[in-house]
Amino acid sequence: MTGKVYLVGAGPGDPELLTLKAVKALKKADVVLCDDLVSDEILAYARPNARVVPVGKRGGCKSTPQEFIERLMISEARHGRIVVRLKGGDPFMFGRGGEECAALRAAGVDFEVVNGITAGIAAASALGIPLTHRDLCHGAIFVTGHETHGRPTDWAALAATGLPLVIYMGVARCEAIQRGLLDGGLAASTPAAVICNATRGDQRSVVTRLDRLAEDLRAAAIASPAIMVIGEVARLAESDAGNRGAPQPQALHLPR
Ligand code: SAH
Repeated sequence: MTGKVYLVGAGPGDPELLTLKAVKALKKADVVLCDDLVSDEILAYARPNARVVPVGKRGGCKSTPQEFIERLMISEARHGRIVVRLKGGDPFMFGRGGEECAALRAAGVDFEVVNGITAGIAAASALGIPLTHRDLCHGAIFVTGHETHGRPTDWAALAATGLPLVIYMGVARCEAIQRGLLDGGLAASTPAAVICNATRGDQRSVVTRLDRLAEDLRAAAIASPAIMVIGEVARLAESDAGNRGAPQPQALHLPR
């Protein structure tokens, strides 16, 4: 009997934002390979005798090599086991889901992808920001703040679209992002909202303007994991919004 691998999105943190499919997969898993952005409350949906293997980058250990994760998934499935590869947010949003699917396909292992709510969507909603409000924009751009494969991000090109930017993994590089967008022509007063630990009990946020972004993030000690929303829609951040009674944003320099 051959097993199967489920690449499951665990959503942004709040366990109530898991999909029914995610819970179903967890309940039948023999092995759970788990990223560190996934909480114990979510892991509690796995069977008590499931083997849980942390494969994240935090907790003092170095990042688990990607080939190790892929080899483990493949060998467990070949032993007939049901494997859940549990990832924060959605597996295909900055989550290496594509690489893992390719490895599973090449190995001839049966697999299924289970979507999760990606942090960019959840973080915006947690502050009541309608990302694609039709009076303000005709779309939104999801982008990493990290350079990918040594290719610098063209912030000027992104600024020129006029679309709201939803930036993942950007906090550590917020100075460069701020500079790139200002140099690219975005107004200094462009609203910017940053949400850290969205939908979790320790959610925090800052609503400010582009020219003060880095300064205000440092002042508020906002750290990863955080999402930045930069664009006119961020002006709609509400102080009393929240998926689950989220704490009020610290409005440091609300744009006018
Ligand atoms: N696959 C994930 C993204 C993984 S990249 C998804 O779809 O959400 C990791 C980045 O996601 C973090 O650096 C941060 O930018 C963002 N992130 C993940 N969880 C978050 C949360 N609860 N609140 C804010 N940002 C989060």
